[in-house]
Amino acid sequence: MLLQKIPSFSRLLTTQQVRIVAVNAWVRRGSTASYEPKYDVVVVGGGIIGMASARELSLRYPHLKLSVLEKEDCLAAHQSGRNSGVIHAGIYYKPGSLKAKLCVEGLHLSYKYFDEEGIPYKKCGKLIVALNELEVKRLHDLFERATLNGVPDIKLIEGSEIKNYEPHCKGLKAIWSPHTGIVDWGLVTEHYGKNFRDHGGSIYLDFKVTGFDLVKDEADAEYPVRVFSKDKAVRCKYVLTCGGLQSDLLAELSGCSGDPHIVPFRGEYLLLSKEKAHLVRGNIYPVPDPRFPFLGVHFTPRMNGDIWLGPNAILAFKREGYSVRSQQAVCLLHRLRLSVTSQAAAYDVCVMAKSCHSYLKGE
Ligand SMILES: Cc1cc2nc3c(=O)[nH]c(=O)nc-3n(C[C@H](O)[C@H](O)[C@H](O)COP(=O)(O)OP(=O)(O)OC[C@H]3O[C@@H](n4cnc5c(N)ncnc54)[C@H](O)[C@@H]3O)c2cc1C
Repeated sequence: MLLQKIPSFSRLLTTQQVRIVAVNAWVRRGSTASYEPKYDVVVVGGGIIGMASARELSLRYPHLKLSVLEKEDCLAAHQSGRNSGVIHAGIYYKPGSLKAKLCVEGLHLSYKYFDEEGIPYKKCGKLIVALNELEVKRLHDLFERATLNGVPDIKLIEGSEIKNYEPHCKGLKAIWSPHTGIVDWGLVTEHYGKNFRDHGGSIYLDFKVTGFDLVKDEADAEYPVRVFSKDKAVRCKYVLTCGGLQSDLLAELSGCSGDPHIVPFRGEYLLLSKEKAHLVRGNIYPVPDPRFPFLGVHFTPRMNGDIWLGPNAILAFKREGYSVRSQQAVCLLHRLRLSVTSQAAAYDVCVMAKSCHSYLKGE
């Protein structure tokens, strides 16, 4: 029915594109509620969490009319398309916690999904390497956690065995996790988007949600929530916000508390030169320092054969600031020793940068 409204597009674009263009044209045309598309559930945010949630809703409740609103012109434009690409096995989380349970279950479900969808991945494994006695003690605690969490086939290995897994790596002791892998999570998000569309869901790109209204409109009482941007709106019964770095702002916009507030950090990676790439086979991680919420600077192979080293964690001015300029401003901030109260912000960026360089130099 929608396609008939702008028939000229249908000759130029694929079916999916036509659906998005046609719906957007429809939204813009009318400002009155009767022209605003109506959905049972609207998901705000086209990152991996938003798309996974939308896809799952479409599978479990095929009768529901669903849509996703994303402010960028593609899916996975932020964290979901800009991360280490590691498929974690559930080593770190507190036994019995939801995170631990979901991570181990998610590991199995992820590989199953990749196989079904033909998404390329590499099960290259992961070593967590202890370099001193204190780290060896932490490594034992970590191994106990991992075992309680049910991480599959995990092993504690001696320093002399490390070379069997990573010939160029040295340490006192290590954890070997054979099922940790790598994948392009941005690509996975796109697959979720495709599944969602195939199940009849609509994805609106370039739709930055700026507000939510509860509408008292007799004619459309069934769809009381109006979700709008500067120039468009949709109506729905329920909203699910999955805004990643903007989640506190979206929570406030939707009438909830903005706590906990997001403190933006920028993570940077170094690229190992092509000639040295053969030195690293799989993921190599340090033993995490329990005082900080980071896993530590690690080597990560990429699907294209590159080896990345990172991320560091630098307090950032912008939530989505990826340019070098924003980092320079931050370095200045750091030099001024701006005090920030959050635990994460207390992490000394210089220590991270140093450890990054030491790794590269093989120290
Ligand atoms: C440096 C780094 C490395 C990481 N490495 C790994 C890893 O190796 N393995 C792993 O499993 N995880 C990793 N993670 C974590 C993982 O990337 C995130 O947990 C995940 O991507 C979060 O997904 P999300 O959908 O919540 O957020 P996002 O991907 O940020 O998606 C949120 C979406 O909401 C949209 N949005 C926000 N506000 C609005 C609005 N008002 N209107 C419309 N749309 C809006 C945004 O544009 C964005 O597309 C890493 C994270 C970082 C930062």
